[in-house]
Amino acid sequence: MSPRTESPHARRGAGFTQTVFSEFSALAMKHAAVNLGQGFPDFDGPPQVLEAAQRAIRDGVNQYAISTGLVALRRAIAVHNERFYGLAVDADTMVTVTSGATEALIDALLGLVDPGDEVVLFEPAYDCYAAGVTLAGGVAKYVTLRPPDATHGAWWYEPAELEAAFSARTKLVLLNTPHNPTGKVFTVPELEHLAALCERFDALLLSDEVYEHIVFSGARHVRAASVAGLGPRTLTVSSAGKTFSVTGWKVGWVIAPPKLRHAVQQVHQFVTFATCSPMQVAIAEALALEDGFFAELARSYEQKRDLLVSALDAAGLTPFQPQGSYFVIADGTRLGFGDDFALCRSLTAEAGVAAIPVSAFMRGAPGARQLARFAFCKTEPVLQEAARRLGKL
Ligand code: PMP
Ligand code: GLN
Repeated sequence: MSPRTESPHARRGAGFTQTVFSEFSALAMKHAAVNLGQGFPDFDGPPQVLEAAQRAIRDGVNQYAISTGLVALRRAIAVHNERFYGLAVDADTMVTVTSGATEALIDALLGLVDPGDEVVLFEPAYDCYAAGVTLAGGVAKYVTLRPPDATHGAWWYEPAELEAAFSARTKLVLLNTPHNPTGKVFTVPELEHLAALCERFDALLLSDEVYEHIVFSGARHVRAASVAGLGPRTLTVSSAGKTFSVTGWKVGWVIAPPKLRHAVQQVHQFVTFATCSPMQVAIAEALALEDGFFAELARSYEQKRDLLVSALDAAGLTPFQPQGSYFVIADGTRLGFGDDFALCRSLTAEAGVAAIPVSAFMRGAPGARQLARFAFCKTEPVLQEAARRLGKL
């Protein structure tokens, strides 16, 4: 052993711990718990999409794709963007295909944020955001999302707190709508306020919209880039994993005006160079599925949400109804654990239902408020089994 082999970490990643998803999936396995922790569907995506990938492999699409992504997929992404949001996209200069949304987000942060630049984040935030800001040497500025209450029907924040998070050093805002873990869908007035602030401080917007097609009755997903003022300064990130229930394929993408896209592409070419070719062929076909597919996705997730929300309610866990995504946060304060990690470890080991402690998406120590995130991207029998187990709490 030498000092160098003993402490090999570069400073930039030395503080990272194992992701909460790895920890709780392993714990769920150990206790044979129903895993409502890590968000991945326990069912397959559309059969024709699975078949398209197999066909691509048989047809010999097995070598590197061009770095920006297969032409067919970039075109399909452009057509999809026009079809659902009325936004024109040049497939050659405005799209890069990445190995999942995660790679797109990290490439964007590395390509756009200099050491000392500030990045505005809504907290709780999906776990790779703060890590990505740290890797880029940026400084995260947080805005707190607060649970629905007597005067707010959905998760909300103080507009003044958002304004105070901006400064002359703000390089970009990292938005996520529909939001993981809260299920919040940002409204047009909220996005307009954000647009005004981005314009005033000349900040960019990195908008993670991976749950764009999982939105429930009463809410509407608004593409941030479609809001006046945001188009020229927004990078939109999405992923095939959520919409087509193929999280293991890791096909994501970024859509942005040419100069912003170039900043991402420059990093992408040296991080992965290109994304898995046969899966790109299949996702190009998937994006062209008829409208009914996308409507049915939202409808079936709404049914799953309702099932899990009632089960949590019946178990005394006080769920906050999500407007989108496939997650619901519930308050387990009543069960009286010291913190949310203790709550989730007990739910997994004793009740046999794994959930993710929400403080994993926040700075600092586990919160006093015991919030747990449950995923409902599961088949109905599995959700019913979870309901049965929660019912014994
Ligand atoms: N952003 C959010 C908000 C997510 O929830 C996830 C994964 N669940 C990702 C990004 C990562 O997506 P991918 O698996 O395509 O990398
Ligand atoms: N995004 C998924 C979730 O929020 C997990 C992805 C991962 O394991 N990194 O549960």
